[in-house]
Amino acid sequence: MNIPFVDLRTQYEALKSEIQLRINNVLEHGQYIMGPEVAELEDRLCTYTGARHCITVSSGTDALLISLMALGVGRDDEVITTPFTFAATAEVIVLLGAKPVFVDIDPLTCNIDAAKVEGAITSRTKAIMPVSLYGQPSDMDEINAIAARHGNIPVIEDAAQSFGADYKGRKSCNLSTVGCTSFFPSKPLGCYGDGGAIFTSDDAFAQACREIRVHGQSQRYWHTRVGLGGRMDTLQCAIVLAKLERFEWEVEQRIEAGARYNRAMDELGVKRVQQKADRTSMFAQYTILVEDREQVQASLKQQGIPTAVHYPVPLNEQPVYRCYGSSSDTPISHSVARQVMSLPMSADVGSVFEPVMSGLRTALSMSRE
Ligand SMILES: *Cc1c(COP(=O)(O)O)cnc(C)c1O
Repeated sequence: MNIPFVDLRTQYEALKSEIQLRINNVLEHGQYIMGPEVAELEDRLCTYTGARHCITVSSGTDALLISLMALGVGRDDEVITTPFTFAATAEVIVLLGAKPVFVDIDPLTCNIDAAKVEGAITSRTKAIMPVSLYGQPSDMDEINAIAARHGNIPVIEDAAQSFGADYKGRKSCNLSTVGCTSFFPSKPLGCYGDGGAIFTSDDAFAQACREIRVHGQSQRYWHTRVGLGGRMDTLQCAIVLAKLERFEWEVEQRIEAGARYNRAMDELGVKRVQQKADRTSMFAQYTILVEDREQVQASLKQQGIPTAVHYPVPLNEQPVYRCYGSSSDTPISHSVARQVMSLPMSADVGSVFEPVMSGLRTALSMSRE
């Protein structure tokens, strides 16, 4: 059996005619840049998240970059974030000449520890950027309250993994000043290339993002700010529109798979990232913690079961970002990064759940011997 880490093939088979119809429409009308599918997708996603504005952009990374640019983050500013995330989160801060300030994570959820955020605020703090890792938002109420107490510091949710998740009756991407998501193919809502989106209910901020997305133009060939080429292709928007047809069903399937995994891990006594199997997580990844990870991964690989590590090295231990702090400031990130291991997960993982679990039992019994 060939077990994929993320099963996009089954999804494609199920949506084939819808996807092809949508692609054909774009090829027929020929508006490859900023065609009608762009506004259609932005409208649909506004309705879905409840945010007043959605600005589609070229990737999740560019969503974060454009958001920071629109907030005017620049040289010597500080942005508070987590070291236990994908590199893009800190990369965009450094690209603008600002300094990432790394705050340690909560060992149960692996999200930024809201209780440690306030202590990291200085007069230079320009934004707080929590990451909804593995599809589950951080303690956003607490983070928003801290930001409000300190002169309304903007809060940017890196929701690249959490589109579709709920937090206290609201949708991820609409939980703070700004939410940024990614349509990278393996994310919960993916396209067939690169894409992303910025969500906000702040009119002026949304307008700034729209201008930055097209080289800082407020009107055609009238450049009022520094921007970039950050549009999402019409074709990629068309593909996300087609995928929305199945998205709610997929959300249910992910939660169902999360519930099965949670039960199986608790029975086996395997440590797992704490994610409730309800709408509060999208289960972008299903992640467990194991002591002898290399051995367990090797055994699973031998049995044809792919695994991944999100993420093996915290950002403040990476050669390029070490200068922004020390791993001794974030001991939980340091230790968790050595244990996390993600198992196959996608809306269509149900059909391979049994072989994955049986492989894991074998791998664990071997490593415990
Ligand atoms: C995927 C991801 C990004 C970047 O998104 P791209 O669309 O790949 O640029 C940023 N942050 C996190 C947490 C991610 O998982």
